[in-house]
This record gives sequence, C-alpha cells and structure tokens, in this order.
Amino acid sequence: MQLVNSVKAQDVAVQRALEDVPHYVNECEALIAENCNDSVHFLYADKIREKASLFLNNFRGSSLYAIKANPHPAIMNLLWHYGVRKFEMASLREIEYVVNMFPEAELYFMHPVKSRQAIRGAYALGVRTFAFDCLDELRKIEEETDHASDLSLFLRVRVDQVNAAYPLSDKFGVPVQEAPLLIQRAQQNAQKVGLTFHVGSQCMDPAAYSEALSQIANMLSSSGVSIDKLDIGGGFPVYYPGMEPGLLEGYFDTIHRALDEHGLDTLELYCEPGRALVAEAGAVAVRVEMRKGQALYMNDGTYGALFDAGVPGWTYPLELRKMDGAEVSDGALPFRLYGPTCDSCDKMEGPFELPDNIAEGDWVIFRHLGAYGYAMQTRFNGFYSETMVAIG
Ligand SMILES: *Cc1c(COP(=O)(O)O)cnc(C)c1O
Repeated sequence: MQLVNSVKAQDVAVQRALEDVPHYVNECEALIAENCNDSVHFLYADKIREKASLFLNNFRGSSLYAIKANPHPAIMNLLWHYGVRKFEMASLREIEYVVNMFPEAELYFMHPVKSRQAIRGAYALGVRTFAFDCLDELRKIEEETDHASDLSLFLRVRVDQVNAAYPLSDKFGVPVQEAPLLIQRAQQNAQKVGLTFHVGSQCMDPAAYSEALSQIANMLSSSGVSIDKLDIGGGFPVYYPGMEPGLLEGYFDTIHRALDEHGLDTLELYCEPGRALVAEAGAVAVRVEMRKGQALYMNDGTYGALFDAGVPGWTYPLELRKMDGAEVSDGALPFRLYGPTCDSCDKMEGPFELPDNIAEGDWVIFRHLGAYGYAMQTRFNGFYSETMVAIG
C-alpha cells in the first residue's frame, strides 16, 4: 500500500513538473495532434530521472546543471524534482531565471568574464560563488560585491584538451603554471578558493580529466599553495553516430582514481554537466518540406535547433515517421539537409543516412538533441519552435 502511494505521489510530482507541456503516448500521436508548422521538441522524463540519478548517486561530489544546455521550464522542473539543486550559470538573465523558478537553488556564476552590472546584480540575488581567470576580473568581483568576505571564488585554468569534439579552452582560463599567484591573491578576501576547468564539450576520452587533475596536482604541490574546492566542469559525452563514448560510470571511475592518486580527494568536489544530463532526454522532429534528389529542405536548421548539425557537422541517431501510414523503406541513402531560412549557410552536409523513400511531409526525428537544440534557436526569418511535448 505504502509503495503504491509513494509511486502515485511521484507520478503526481512529475505531472506537476510537466504541467504546461502536452503529454502524448507516442511521437506519431503527438505529431498528428499538434499539427505543427514548426519542428517539434520531444521530452522524455524518464531519461531525466535516469541521468540525474546517475550523476547524483555516482559522482563523488556535487553535480551542478549547466543550464545553457537546455533551460526549458519542464526540463528545469524535472531536474529539480529528481534532486538537482545546484545550477551553473553564465549570465544575469540565467541567474534571474533560476532564482525566480527555485528560490532555494544554489547558484554558481561560472563565466570567467562578467559585466560589472552582472556581478553586482548576481550578488544582490544571493550569488556567492563566482569564477575568474585573471587579476582584472578578480578585482571586478571584489569591487562589485563591495569587498564581500563571504565569497567562494573559482580560478578557471586552461588544461590541455585531450580528444574533445568541441574544444573550450582557447577562450578562457589561465595557464596552470600561472595559477599560484592568482590563488593567493584571491585568498586575501575570499572565504574559499577553488580551481575549475572545462575539458571541452563532448569529451571522448576520460583521460582528459585525469590529465587535467594531474597538471593541477603538480602545480599545487610544487607551489605549496592550497585550495578548498575543485570543479571539474562539464564535457561528459553522449552517443552520436561516429562518436561512441564509454559509459559515464567509467568517466567517474577514472576521475575518482585520479583524485585519490594525486591526494586531491579531500577537496570539495563539483562537476557541471550540461549535455550529459539532458541530451538523451530530448529529440526534435523536423519535417521535410521538399525533396530534390538527395537534398532535403527541412523546417528546422542551423539557425534553429540543428546548429550542431550544420556548424561542427554532427549527425544524430535518426528515425523517419511517415504520417500517411506508408511503409518506411529498408534501403537507405545519404542525404544533405537544408534549413528553412533564406541564408545559404543554413545547410547541413551530413551525410544523413535516411530511408530512400523519404518524401515531402515526412518527419525526421533527431534523437539525443535535448541539449543545445531548443536552447540555441534564433528567431531568424521567423523560423523557430516553442512546441515542446512530453512523450511516454
Ligand atoms: C557549457 C559549460 C558547461 C557544460 O558543458 P557540457 O559539455 O554541456 O557538459 C559546464 N561548465 C561551463 C563553464 C560551461 O561553459
């Protein structure tokens, strides 16, 4: 009886998290009922549960959700429901958004370069944790928080990027050898000081993390400076065609072993997953508006949810849905895709392997697009989609 009741309570809470999102049994039903002229975003709540519990139960420290990956309210509510309480943010708007949504949330303002107004506004909203990567930014933080003594400051360091599909280190971060002076300088006022890095998004080799930890451990021991916190950033990968990473548990094992080996295991530990928490919890259905041979003109593209298909040129696990009940052919062909805007940059080379009888009116479901899809749409030329529906 107890069990039945608690299962019901869970269901009710999930329903509430999904309050503003229509719910359908399957994708075809959703596409028919919505009869949408734009692409359609699908949300799979079970995947959020699975990934949140994977991070919360298996990673040794705290997991912050990097909200830029997908800030849709339904995603945020589900993550909160499944226990995520800490959020990694880069802008004052993101902070205001999270504070409005969850007044109890723990806030981490981890952009290494912030405007003065953003720092001051964030402090007023309760942010006490900031990142910096140079002396001028440290001074900005001190000045705009009126030399607060209750800050946790993370110095962003630049580590060698081993095998990241999407490098993130040429823009931010101080070389590890230059960290000691900045750490000591930050320690003059801050309550706690930590180090953070980002190995690059969609990091295909867990050795990137252990290598970064080894560089940090060497720097700490040779300089004699000590820190309180260590934030290993995001970068945890998911599967895309041609990119088959190992299990996240294996990444955690490698990271935990490196922490133990280098004597970093007593530090307060954090990670900042974006993609790995939400990518598999989403998909985007995109309609074929025209077929010209092996070129397909779609209703979403690089200015919309398919930026990563167009610019870094990724492909996704794809599935075809024919709405007229016709059979999907077994034979496949490589296709090139065009997005809906009038810009000739709005194209995706792929090649995307799709059934050879694909035709106008069919929908292509791009899986594992719960991260950096919905979040990256522009409104260019009037093409974007606000249609998010829960499936299952
Ligand atoms: C984008 C970003 C993340 C999330 O990265 P993923 O590769 O999506 O896990 C985490 N931390 C910072 C500072 C970021 O800029």
